[in-house]
Amino acid sequence: MKELRKVLVSKAQLESRVKELGAAISRDYEGKELVLIGILKGAAVFMADLMREITFPVAIDYMSVSSYGSSSTTSGVITIKQDINTDIRGKHVLLVEDLIDTGLTLQHLGQLFALREAASVSICTILSKPSRRLADIPIDYCGIEIPDEFVVGYGLDYAEQYRNLPEVWIVETEEQQ
Ligand code: 5GP
Ligand code: MG
Ligand code: MG
Repeated sequence: MKELRKVLVSKAQLESRVKELGAAISRDYEGKELVLIGILKGAAVFMADLMREITFPVAIDYMSVSSYGSSSTTSGVITIKQDINTDIRGKHVLLVEDLIDTGLTLQHLGQLFALREAASVSICTILSKPSRRLADIPIDYCGIEIPDEFVVGYGLDYAEQYRNLPEVWIVETEEQQ
């Protein structure tokens, strides 16, 4: 077990930011055909909260990707472990992420959905670490910017644990001990 160090983002902060993001998305996509695509497993908790703040009917789907490299960093080479089964051609896609770190995963997925002829592809994340960015991707809906700390909770794991914490915590990883 790793030690939880401190709460970085509280449940109340997450709730209020998710409401704001949902309101902005509802305004921007009103009258359009929107498909929310959650990136498993981390975005599952945020997706569930976000979709209920959207004021018109939306379609949802999920995909699972993996990147080569250690458990806490991304190499930029990603493989699709589980794809969506929605035809998104001509529809507006919003990719929903738990955390954007280097941005390499979302850069890759943005290109993939553009090739699949979505009407538009935008990005929504609840957390972002701007200091870690390698790919200069536009984040259309950015929840909360955080410092370069390894975090868990609100869907995010350490070795598949802690996803169920209602707030975002800083955890001590092996590299820091
Ligand atoms: P990137 O933006 O670097 O391509 O990849 C971001 C993904 O790496 C996140 O969606 C998340 O799955 C994982 N990741 C990056 N930083 C952290 C972190 O601090 N904690 C956890 N649990 N996962 C992280
Ligand atoms: Mg993720
Ligand atoms: Mg993980």
